[in-house]
Amino acid sequence: MTRSFDVLVVGAGPAGIAAAVCAADEGREVAIVDENPHPGGQIWRIGRENTEHGKVVGDAEVWMRRLDRTSVQSFLGWHIFDAPAPKVLRAAWGPEVAELHFKSLIIATGARERLLPFPGWTLPNVLGAGGLQALVKAGLPIRGKRVVVAGTGPLLIAVAVYLRQKGADVVALCEQASTSNLLKFGIGLLGQPTKLADAVRFGWQSRGIPLRTSCWPTAALGRDKLERVALNDNGRAVEIEADYLACGFHLVPNCQLVSLVGCVLDGSYVRVDEFQQTTVADVFSAGETTGVGGVEAALVEGQIAGLTAAGARQKAASLLKERNATRRFTRLLDRTYALNPDLRRLPASDTIVCRCEDVSMKAVQGNASWREAKLQSRVGMGACQGRICGAACEFLFGWGMESVRPPIQPVPVGSLIGTRAENF
Ligand SMILES: Cc1cc2nc3c(=O)[nH]c(=O)nc-3n(C[C@H](O)[C@H](O)[C@H](O)COP(=O)(O)OP(=O)(O)OC[C@H]3O[C@@H](n4cnc5c(N)ncnc54)[C@H](O)[C@@H]3O)c2cc1C
Repeated sequence: MTRSFDVLVVGAGPAGIAAAVCAADEGREVAIVDENPHPGGQIWRIGRENTEHGKVVGDAEVWMRRLDRTSVQSFLGWHIFDAPAPKVLRAAWGPEVAELHFKSLIIATGARERLLPFPGWTLPNVLGAGGLQALVKAGLPIRGKRVVVAGTGPLLIAVAVYLRQKGADVVALCEQASTSNLLKFGIGLLGQPTKLADAVRFGWQSRGIPLRTSCWPTAALGRDKLERVALNDNGRAVEIEADYLACGFHLVPNCQLVSLVGCVLDGSYVRVDEFQQTTVADVFSAGETTGVGGVEAALVEGQIAGLTAAGARQKAASLLKERNATRRFTRLLDRTYALNPDLRRLPASDTIVCRCEDVSMKAVQGNASWREAKLQSRVGMGACQGRICGAACEFLFGWGMESVRPPIQPVPVGSLIGTRAENF
């Protein structure tokens, strides 16, 4: 199947939905692609509950309804895995493949959790923080279970509050950031009333959950599944009994597609100008790919990208002030939740770093680069293509991800037939 659009949007989270709606409202022929069967991204996905997040419910309803009213063509359940030529992306849905041609492309592929390896992190019942939240939303019974929530970032509080609302006994909320960093975060919010209100609300909702700062898990202990969590609590070794460990170290942007189409990155984020234009002509990016700043940032960036891609630059310009305010919040998050370098000592030499290929720390360390480590050990060569261990190695060893090659997501072999020969 080959289809052509004025504007193609990848990612149907808040940024992608806002971009698609705005471009369609300007009269452009627009398509939106998401690997999930429902729009909404990480936060608004239909089939999950959106009712516990107050204002988000309102935004989700407004934007989903606006999307329904447009003529945007949805490719839901399709994932983009290749960019075979300029202005063409290749998408797969099972063995089906579509070539999607575009005049402008908006990449809004969001972010994922950063997981760091430590002894026992592959034990059953040790999950990502957002991962456990998603499982509970999908029906996993959590009532009465003892849960340690650990790692770093604002997602931890949201997850702890959610799990407690669902009946879990959240026995500890372990934040690797220091108390002084969190206080500075609070002060930084003073000029940002909406965010300050969110923080106060979360603070109130999380009252009674034991918060430990400068604290992180050093081991997950148990025979067949998690029984205890060992913690470094301000330098003291502590053990807590638990049924689940929900552990995530903030978010990592999904920049595989922006890299594949040749956009320049600044660190782990894609470089964009104030109109969300990347370094590649007619390619825009919005949302967590440009900085982890939450749903408000994703929405305003999506609108700017959609309007600009549709040629309505004046309208986009009217949103720049709002966008700049969300940028301040992104920078504040990055400063507050920067990882403590001591976390680099978490993995023991026999700790698995790459779960797909069962590669241990001792097989990875000592290599000079990500590329060399891949060649020597197969780290990052499994089904997830380094999405988990690549981000961990980036932090542990300071390695950059030198190149991205298709397929950027696993696809059946049949879907690869016809893909550029030079990639293999
Ligand atoms: C696990 C997790 C849980 C979170 N929970 C909360 C929460 O409880 N509360 C909160 O306030 N914020 C939460 N966030 C943050 C929130 O998701 C973001 O602030 C917001 O959703 C960002 O919107 P976005 O549009 O940039 O990205 P996203 O909402 O992440 O949307 C990106 C979309 O792109 C799609 N995609 C990516 N790559 C491809 C591809 N190759 N082909 C097709 N589709 C693709 C993804 O399936 C996804 O739907 C969470 C984030 C994560 C990662």
